[in-house]
Amino acid sequence: MPSSRELQSWSLAIDDTDSLQGDCTTETMFSFLASAGETLKLIDFPHLIRFNPNVPWKTRGNGGVSIRFQATRKDAEEIFEELNRRLPSASTELNRNPGIVLIPLDAVKEANVQKFYHKIMTRVVLLDEAIELLNTLAVSYLGKGTKRGLIGALGASIASLNDFTFELLTYRTRDMIGQPRKIETASVLRFEKKWFPRIFNSYDIDNDIPLIAPRGKDPVLFGLRGENPLELLEAYRDLEIYEPVAGGLIFKTNQGTDQHLEFATNKLIPFQAFVDTGIVISPPEDLQGGHVRFLTRSKFEKFEYWTVCYEPSKQLRSIIRKLIPNDEIEVAGGVRNLIIDKRITINLERLKILRLEPGMIRENPHCPQCNKHLTSKGKGQGFKCKKCKKSFPDAKPTLRKYDRGLHPAIYLPPPSAQRHLTQPICRYGIGSKAMEKYNQELFYPISLSKTRENKKE
Ligand SMILES: [Zn+2]
Repeated sequence: MPSSRELQSWSLAIDDTDSLQGDCTTETMFSFLASAGETLKLIDFPHLIRFNPNVPWKTRGNGGVSIRFQATRKDAEEIFEELNRRLPSASTELNRNPGIVLIPLDAVKEANVQKFYHKIMTRVVLLDEAIELLNTLAVSYLGKGTKRGLIGALGASIASLNDFTFELLTYRTRDMIGQPRKIETASVLRFEKKWFPRIFNSYDIDNDIPLIAPRGKDPVLFGLRGENPLELLEAYRDLEIYEPVAGGLIFKTNQGTDQHLEFATNKLIPFQAFVDTGIVISPPEDLQGGHVRFLTRSKFEKFEYWTVCYEPSKQLRSIIRKLIPNDEIEVAGGVRNLIIDKRITINLERLKILRLEPGMIRENPHCPQCNKHLTSKGKGQGFKCKKCKKSFPDAKPTLRKYDRGLHPAIYLPPPSAQRHLTQPICRYGIGSKAMEKYNQELFYPISLSKTRENKKE
């Protein structure tokens, strides 16, 4: 064990410091880093880590935030205390139960730690399990209220990313929080057209929804998601912003990487991330509320489940409606705690069409003389031509192939309905990427004074 005076690398994480009343976990870290300055020796971008999106009692945004830095053990513990002092108190009313965790960064690589990380990405983690690991791992940790924030803080502190994206989050000045955001919508659309796919999910063009800004009292002004932090810093200038910006912070994140699906299984356990190769066994049906569902049988396991595409998935539903029995698909999503006709329900997050059944349509035969479709005389009584009045007692219906209007591919909901973790189509093929070397300054809060707040004047 290193002595208390030796420099070591640390991971310090927080979760659940947010509420709907104008706080946000990323903003807690932003303001902490702004006050700490470069006396804090960051060795990587702050991490924003999203977890299994199917957990019903998740914290808002369902993500924890961590920083990685070098310090002696004594200094690290002081930094822990400083951040701890900035955490808001627990609040039942606001459903806020902050947690903070300090671990040696080396511990992240340990097998049992990574096993826990896989679990928090795909399953339900109980507080006791988190505390059990924290007791063996953490130098310091503290949970307030129900201590639920400890789960996400631990998750963020041990995140291990083979693939990652960046998000530049910008923050509003205190006096603006709660007021409408002054971002010109047309500039967000232009931004999407200019920067996609290097910067993605800025605007849902099919549904005409800008996606960079949260709503309400959130202190975040906007967030830009992309592959490269330098591009994010260049790109934000293309947005027309008419309010002051308190600053920005670039997070390295598992958003847009499908990390939860990467570790998922086809176990039908409620609230778990789920991936299965299946066969469509019932025609899709429309439900009240605009949802569409069909029955799927697992290809290898022989169990059946409902795959449901909910209304917010918008255009994806028109793909689902074209499926027919025997199509081979991959269903990815979350297991819901909902059983209909003894079968559990999967909330569809991604559909892969692997193989399409040829589309065959049954048609009445043609009259050999008139070349018109014959009409049926009733079951087992053959056909009749309306034009020449001839009967054809032995004629049989014919099968004609029709165009299914589908092809094997990956289909997602539109960006406005995607989970934070969902990998956009434009990122397929990236798989994993190596971390480039970036200027250390980028790890700290960035002044964004050159926004166009005065442009209209
Ligand atoms: Zn005829």
